[in-house]
Amino acid sequence: MKQSIWGVTPAELEDIVATVGAEPYRARQILAWLYQRNAASFDEMTDLPAGLRSVLDNRLDLSLPPVLTLQEADDGLTRKLLLQLPDGETVETVLMQYPEAPGSRERATVCVSTQVGCAMGCVFCATGQAGFVRNLPADQVVAQVMSFVRDVHRPTNVVFMGMGEPLANYASMWKAVEILNDGRCLGLGARHITVSTVGLVPGIRRLAREKLQVNLAVSLHAPNDALRRQLIPTTGQPIAELLAACREFFEASGRRVTFEYVLIDGVNDSRDLARELTQILRGFPCHVNLIPVNPTPDASIRR
Ligand code: SF4
Repeated sequence: MKQSIWGVTPAELEDIVATVGAEPYRARQILAWLYQRNAASFDEMTDLPAGLRSVLDNRLDLSLPPVLTLQEADDGLTRKLLLQLPDGETVETVLMQYPEAPGSRERATVCVSTQVGCAMGCVFCATGQAGFVRNLPADQVVAQVMSFVRDVHRPTNVVFMGMGEPLANYASMWKAVEILNDGRCLGLGARHITVSTVGLVPGIRRLAREKLQVNLAVSLHAPNDALRRQLIPTTGQPIAELLAACREFFEASGRRVTFEYVLIDGVNDSRDLARELTQILRGFPCHVNLIPVNPTPDASIRR
């Protein structure tokens, strides 16, 4: 079976071309064709010797997952793809475009999934209610972004906020970050990559130690442990421990953490809880992102 190119780092590609007797600079040429010139086959890489193209074509798969459905918002700025994976599972990825505002450049953010399903079981999330199926390998994460790139939508930002908990699939998530960031691949700056977690403390600490400093978003959703456990039943760590890990991340990276707070009518949106939230975050340089909850089949979850 061929290996997907989308999970191959530049160093790994140099090794692959070396094993077929080619010079390392061939790897750089191939990556430029893929990531800058949107080549979909080795045949298009006309500055590579025909023999090398044919050998590599037998080893590496350049295809992207077939698009099962494409949903587009009325304004044409948001596109959601449902992608078919080789084992029959499916995964969603979303492109959100923000038109150029005076004084700022146009932004296009791709939101990627890192798992099929999710084990975290957040009560307001349809994916969480459906349960966990499997982790995505790095190539299936990078391929989500490239599905838009090949369709001429080059992202300025990538957020790991789709289906699944990225820190529960750390190795693949991080390999995808490194490939997207590498200047020989997509060259997306670390400042333009955000990893969003439900709050896995060991993963946050590991992220704090990485050389590449991406942004961190943490799903808080409640200012106290009792309410947070109702909303995220699998959360084991107390908020105090979660905030300590977030401070560690801030101190190591200098990046403000964003706390996501999904607003559910009558559950976590009272003034008292808002005050409690300001108390637990007082003095911590951070952002709080209030998000009206998306409707789910569960009638008790209202915006
Ligand atoms: Fe849904 Fe994210 Fe919670 Fe998983 S962690 S259940 S994907 S909201």
